[in-house]
Amino acid sequence: MEELNVKALAKINLGLDVVRRREDGYHEVRMIMQTVHLFDRLNIRRISSPEIVIHTNRTFLPTDENNLIYKAAKLMRETYDIKDGIDVELAKYIPVAAGMAGGSTDAAATMYAMNRIFDLGASEERLKELGVKIGADVPYCIMRGTALAEGIGEELTSLPPMIKCPVLIAKPAISVSTKFVYENLKLDENTPHPDIDKLISDIKNKDLHAVANDMGNVLETVTIDNYPIINDIKQKMIADGALGAMMSGSGPTVFGLFEDDNVAEKAYESMKESGLAKQVYLTTIYNTRWN
Ligand code: ATP
Repeated sequence: MEELNVKALAKINLGLDVVRRREDGYHEVRMIMQTVHLFDRLNIRRISSPEIVIHTNRTFLPTDENNLIYKAAKLMRETYDIKDGIDVELAKYIPVAAGMAGGSTDAAATMYAMNRIFDLGASEERLKELGVKIGADVPYCIMRGTALAEGIGEELTSLPPMIKCPVLIAKPAISVSTKFVYENLKLDENTPHPDIDKLISDIKNKDLHAVANDMGNVLETVTIDNYPIINDIKQKMIADGALGAMMSGSGPTVFGLFEDDNVAEKAYESMKESGLAKQVYLTTIYNTRWN
């Protein structure tokens, strides 16, 4: 095989809790990860020169060793002693620096594609082991679907698939630094922690209303005070018929879960017209593993 075109799917967090701050500065988390059908496309082609070449429609993204695609390709070349190079055409649609694991999923897609193009025979487990060297979310992006992520996000337990429903995604025109959010997170007896175990049982029970009700992200305690627009978007989604709305990851992207396609479509149009968000997408929960 010389060339492969793959979808790199984004994730949302249906639940995000920070259990404790470790002495090394990392945070122990409990997160419910969920793939949505919002994706970048990577066209990956084998080339005979020993290079990693990246082109992208988003000119502000790095195309050198700072791109996670580059890091993933370099790791695969070194691990498997691959002599040829690759040329990657990245069509980026996932909001960048937005809490949707955009870079991590591109890295995961690169590893998946190189495994096939170079016929490496690596198992999913092996790719996940390698992926964590690139970033804590990469193993989940290789796995996909509905999962509990613990540790620093790399300890994964597969969960029964989340109920398929429309998902409205809206990213305001602000940048939120993940570092700022974690550094300003106060963990004490007043911190409102989401009940991740309850959320897992709601998912198992296929109860969409309960999921929407029990969703929670402890990082909102930092971002909503500092960036009120996040709350404005949440409130608008609820007013427009979302069963629940929440910030994904460390933000600033907000997602809303709907049960009715028509209601979701109207909420999507209304969000676009409101000017509250720079990027707005209507997508769905997506549980299929690889395309
Ligand atoms: P997470 O949900 O894991 O916190 P994120 O959505 O906050 O991820 P990304 O979209 O992965 O963040 O991008 C974070 C930074 O990484 C960007 O500022 C960007 O310059 C850099 N980056 C490197 N490679 C990529 C890539 N392939 N796609 C997007 N960003 C990339």
